[in-house]
Amino acid sequence: MRSEIERGVFWGLELSGLLALAERFSRGLAILAYHGVTDAPARPGGNLRRLHIPGARFEEHLRLITRRYRPVSLNEAVGTLTAGATLRPRSVVITFDDGYRNFLTAAMPRLLRFGVPATLFVLTGAPTQRLWQDRLEVMLEASREESISWRGSSLRPGSGGDPSALTTLRTRLALLGPEREQALGELSALLGSTPAEPDPDRDLLSWDELRQIKAAGFEIGSHADIHEPLTERPRQRVGGELRQSREVLERELGPARYALAYPYGAHDPGAMHAAKEAAFSCGLTTEAGLNDARTPLFALRRMLVGLDHDASRLRFSLSGARALLPARSRRSVVYGG
Ligand SMILES: [Zn+2]
Repeated sequence: MRSEIERGVFWGLELSGLLALAERFSRGLAILAYHGVTDAPARPGGNLRRLHIPGARFEEHLRLITRRYRPVSLNEAVGTLTAGATLRPRSVVITFDDGYRNFLTAAMPRLLRFGVPATLFVLTGAPTQRLWQDRLEVMLEASREESISWRGSSLRPGSGGDPSALTTLRTRLALLGPEREQALGELSALLGSTPAEPDPDRDLLSWDELRQIKAAGFEIGSHADIHEPLTERPRQRVGGELRQSREVLERELGPARYALAYPYGAHDPGAMHAAKEAAFSCGLTTEAGLNDARTPLFALRRMLVGLDHDASRLRFSLSGARALLPARSRRSVVYGG
């Protein structure tokens, strides 16, 4: 219901010319944060994080961006900001977090076709290991158990079951930290083990594939070593872990100006300082909004783009029109980060 109302608001703004007006006066740099583009049919139990957008929709986005905006690479945009120069109006940077294989299979061919640059942020610690959220999704989807009882919760898994099983488990596992592996092992035993089928919407890219992506002209950055918030790690470890993450990128991909996207967008003054000390070029958050020369380089704003963004909603986000609305209606949908 809410999305119907929102769609009405976007159409209203578009028709009233307010969007075109906001676009005309927009001076900020928009940075978009995608996670994946999928060519797979919609799955009943999968994609519940609403992160991977269908290929056709991504093409709508690219059509909008190339027609009404100016796509630039992150390095170019950051270079302009640090030089104190003015970015050209309606500049847009596209980024992808987590390093899903579908960047290579579904996003990159379309980016190349439209001539749009992008930066991909990858985990430098164990790049090919699936994220626990995806392992959990696969376990639940493939399970033949009608119901299980785990640590006091009664759950109905499987694609025909209750989708809240995934939501409940994701919430509980997110809080576990280092104990999460043990919990995943318990769940795997209860749900029945599943063979690891290749899946570009869940597998992460290997270094060989990342070199291929770099050779095609795309920038690669760090999403830290592992997908855990920097703000919840022991303070004294963060600096060393980030420095090592940048060194791994240099070793695997060669010397370059590497940017950092904070896992889950989570940052605080300590994490920002550590990112700067580790010689990253900038730090990207998932706080919505546009950037200009006054935005701190280690707290650049990005807009998360997920399954709910059709082209008109994306245009609304890019235009800066959000700032024209009362603060109460500015709440944005939160995706995985
Ligand atoms: Zn992430």
